[in-house]
Amino acid sequence: MSSEMTGETEEMKDDEDEEEMKDRDDDGGDEGFSVLSDLPVEITERRPTCHTCCRPVKVCLCPYLPAHPLDVSTCLYIVQHPAEESRVLRTVPLLAACLPPVKCKVFIGRRFTDERHPELAAVCKDAHTLLLYPGADAADLEDLASDFTTTAHNVILIDGTWSQAKDMFLRNSLFRLPKQVQLRSFSSSQYVIRTQPTNMCVSTLECAAVALSIMEKNQNIQEVLLKPLQALCSFQLQHGAQIHHSKEHLIRNGQYNKILPQNKRKIRRMQKLISNQNI
Ligand SMILES: [Zn+2]
Repeated sequence: MSSEMTGETEEMKDDEDEEEMKDRDDDGGDEGFSVLSDLPVEITERRPTCHTCCRPVKVCLCPYLPAHPLDVSTCLYIVQHPAEESRVLRTVPLLAACLPPVKCKVFIGRRFTDERHPELAAVCKDAHTLLLYPGADAADLEDLASDFTTTAHNVILIDGTWSQAKDMFLRNSLFRLPKQVQLRSFSSSQYVIRTQPTNMCVSTLECAAVALSIMEKNQNIQEVLLKPLQALCSFQLQHGAQIHHSKEHLIRNGQYNKILPQNKRKIRRMQKLISNQNI
């Protein structure tokens, strides 16, 4: 049993604090792929917030949500990096607002264990659970469509930036228990406000929308779930945010206006990003 599996100890807490510091450094402006610095500045403090969509009341997205929660048999489990919870433009509250509470559960953290998250651990061990995370070992969800006719399935999604999600996937042995799946084809992300590291990297809401429409065999689900996201992007654009193409798109088209990193590790990372779309 690895140290990660032995439950919460003071030592672990210290480790997590250290990691948090490291993560903050990683997100700093010096990093070639910093994400935080690309976010549009939006001050949310002291503004009243809608409790349903978690948006400021002035730009509440509730009119774009379905009148009744979508009737789905698939259950979503979102494992969310703690930094994602405080991010200004986040999509999971919109997703949760479109689904019955029992069909969309959010777990916040970086490390998940049997002891601390028994419900999530049981879901990971369930034969009808899929983990949506791209990679060489992942099956295409589109090819499994025949599996979804009889039994209800669970889908685990990791919500965080590209690097946070990768870290969470690699460091949690529980996440290697379910069958790993990915979405084969994806048009460029609709979520144009937040820069995506590659064109294949889309918001958690978009991933969930496509996955649910495949598993429930209902294309309408995708349209309903993407409606509030389209409204969010449209609001942001009206309020001065600029369309962000993915960094991959910008680099390929010679439009990436940041000074390219001098550090060899960063250059390798950037080359890898362009040549390999798998995270
Ligand atoms: Zn609202």
